[in-house]
Amino acid sequence: ATPMSIMTATGRGAQAGVLIREAEALERFSTVDTLIVDKTGTLTEGKPTLTDIVAVDDDENRLLGLAAALERGSQHPLAEAIMTAAEERGLALEVTEGFEATNGKGVSGTIGGRRVSLGNRAMMQGMDLGDLEAQAERLEAEGKTAMFVAIDGSVAGLVAVADRIKPTTAEAIRALHESGLRIIMATGDTERTARALAKELGIDEVHAGLLPEDKKALVDALRAKGRKIAVAGDGVNDAPALAAADVGIAMGTGADVAMESAGITLVKGDLNGIVRARRLSEATMQNIR
Ligand code: ADP
Ligand code: MG
Repeated sequence: ATPMSIMTATGRGAQAGVLIREAEALERFSTVDTLIVDKTGTLTEGKPTLTDIVAVDDDENRLLGLAAALERGSQHPLAEAIMTAAEERGLALEVTEGFEATNGKGVSGTIGGRRVSLGNRAMMQGMDLGDLEAQAERLEAEGKTAMFVAIDGSVAGLVAVADRIKPTTAEAIRALHESGLRIIMATGDTERTARALAKELGIDEVHAGLLPEDKKALVDALRAKGRKIAVAGDGVNDAPALAAADVGIAMGTGADVAMESAGITLVKGDLNGIVRARRLSEATMQNIR
């Protein structure tokens, strides 16, 4: 495209909340055939709220209190849901020492001399989940995210959160399908939770339980097959995939590193911005053909 048509498109994009950082991203987007989207914070609000607590010893407040004490050190959207719930119940939180976050898995630390961890099945590696596995499956089939809590190497319960789908997501997915894109969900969340959501939205393909490097590997594998890939995501965990895509699209409501890794940033962070970016790209490239 000519510098002039790119400038025009960049200006029109900015007015519509689509910030184009790399002209090549705009040019390439019209040739993209596959869109990979992150789930939490991209398809959904990314503001999950706590829905369930299952404590093996029936002491819900103790379990939630431990989870919240851990999450105080975390930036993850799931952490906020747990903190808010603990606040609402007026729980006093203990101090966590040696806090550690494991990307795509969960968090851990020492509370009152006990090793506490919180996260998905991968975080609970080597531990027997017992009856909690069935409980988690039931919650996940409802599209909720279940997180296990372990104390000194034994699973002590789980907490579940639900995250609302953004009001604009369904409509945008329809429009993106109409413009010929295959839509793939790539998420660190569990298969069952991801599938429940994908089914509701009519998403073509689901890859769940992914670590940040797995999201990037998915992009690389599809590109190696000759597919042209756009990735939309909001998190630190999406940055490698955004950088590896033909077109990276960051949600302006997400992490800075996601925006630094992407050619396009959507100010409002809803998927309608992707529809607009696609139209801008098509219009820009038509002008020169
Ligand atoms: P997504 O791809 O949906 O944005 P993430 O890669 O950020 O998901 O996280 C994947 C999974 O790892 C979460 O669904 C959760 O089970 C677990 N996890 C990650 N960070 C945390 C945390 N701070 N607290 C609890 N669980 C977490
Ligand atoms: Mg996310």
